[in-house]
Amino acid sequence: MGSQEVSTVDWQGKHVTVAGLGVSGIPAARALHERGALVTVVNDGGDERARAQAAELEALGITVRLGDGATLPPSTELVVTAPGWQPDKPLFLAAAEAGVPVWGDVELAWRLRGDNGRKAAPWLAVTGTNGKTTTVRMLASILEAAGLRTAAVGNIGVSLLDAVLGDTEYDVLAVELSSYQLHWAPSLRAHSAAVLNLAPDHLDWHGSMEAYAADKGRVYEGNTVACVYNVADPATEDLVREADVEEGCRAIGFTLGAPGPSQLGVVDGILVDRAFVANRQKQAQELAEVSDVDPPAPHNIANALAAAALARAFGVEPAAVRDGLRAFRPDAHRIEHVADIGEVAYVDDSKATNTHATEASLAAYDSIVWIAGGLAKGATFDELVIGAAKRLRGVVLMGADRALIHEALTRHAPEVPVVDLDRTDTGAMSEAVARAAELARPGDTVLLAPACASMDMFTNYNKRGEAFADAVRARADERA
Ligand code: ADP
Repeated sequence: MGSQEVSTVDWQGKHVTVAGLGVSGIPAARALHERGALVTVVNDGGDERARAQAAELEALGITVRLGDGATLPPSTELVVTAPGWQPDKPLFLAAAEAGVPVWGDVELAWRLRGDNGRKAAPWLAVTGTNGKTTTVRMLASILEAAGLRTAAVGNIGVSLLDAVLGDTEYDVLAVELSSYQLHWAPSLRAHSAAVLNLAPDHLDWHGSMEAYAADKGRVYEGNTVACVYNVADPATEDLVREADVEEGCRAIGFTLGAPGPSQLGVVDGILVDRAFVANRQKQAQELAEVSDVDPPAPHNIANALAAAALARAFGVEPAAVRDGLRAFRPDAHRIEHVADIGEVAYVDDSKATNTHATEASLAAYDSIVWIAGGLAKGATFDELVIGAAKRLRGVVLMGADRALIHEALTRHAPEVPVVDLDRTDTGAMSEAVARAAELARPGDTVLLAPACASMDMFTNYNKRGEAFADAVRARADERA
């Protein structure tokens, strides 16, 4: 069977254990139940919300076991897990021992696609440590400009299962995949896929950098047309080499420099394609201008090139690449300019939740008062600080793991003034902004790029970014 064909599973009477009530678990349980499977949902917690959700599923005839996510129900033939569940949980060890397969939400969507009688749209997949959401949204914008019926789905916050089983018929899907989702997606076979970059992240979950890279590399398995890699990040090209792809599938590089054959790159401010042209030895096709990309920061041009490569692999014309990039606007909290106060710019990059993203945003400004800190997720900060030291006017640190950043600053940038905020209440961000403003000089940028996750102090990175923007606007109003 060709890798893009739809496989069918006979769900009737199949004992499926769904691990985790939640955004992926509940729709998975319902979809499987509707197809005749005998579904048991297991969940670690059992709070009021979980009890209400359980009652709804039980009313349909689905079994729910609250407060016990560790034990594998004896007759289980398949486990469908929420992507975030850590692979070394006892439930998965028991499944491995019993020879029971484990699928994540993406694997389930992949297997169920087309089973409602609709066309099974091919997937253009994007993963990487940073830039996934931006790239997938750029890609969807380009595909739309080409007149294709498409949606940006997956880790971006739109469930793949909903997209695959919903009423809308798509020509192609732009799919963002996290390393967790890829870990649990053994049979996924994308039309084409890109790994944007690889830097240490989520190592506490994956166990090691090797395991993290291997999970990202799964996105290339079975690709039919193109495996898109980052020329500046050889680890991504290594993953292409290691992947088992369909006959005729090509490795396509993207670079911020002049492209070689089978690459997309930049020449004199123009995004050019030397991959999807008739004669790639001699010919290059103009796609768009650097100024068509918002913001035209180097890392974002790289995202645009990756999106363009996937679109071109799908057969999209150059003009649609340009139109799609022009129509694209970045999401909030990604290098978002909030205000200028007294010749100091205030920029919200709350989405920079790891050191690699923060490195990209610190590289975009010359003189910075850096606001950082939060949950480090096992990261170290030495390289980040060494790279940015020359451009730091000062630093304001907050959050649970701020000492790790402080120690790196003491080691590598002892002359840079550091304000260490020992508070986690709701007013902490206002104080951080006030202290940053004291450190800033005209022409500086106050940059929130925490290099850490937000959950020690905020519900998520959105809330953290909003707290920053609110504090900045309040200051601007006071000055007005
Ligand atoms: P993801 O979905 O992978 O988290 P986003 O597009 O939401 O990626 O961007 C996350 C963060 O990474 C932002 O702070 C942004 O500034 C930064 N970023 C975006 N693209 C890149 C890239 N190609 N390389 C490094 N950092 C990037």
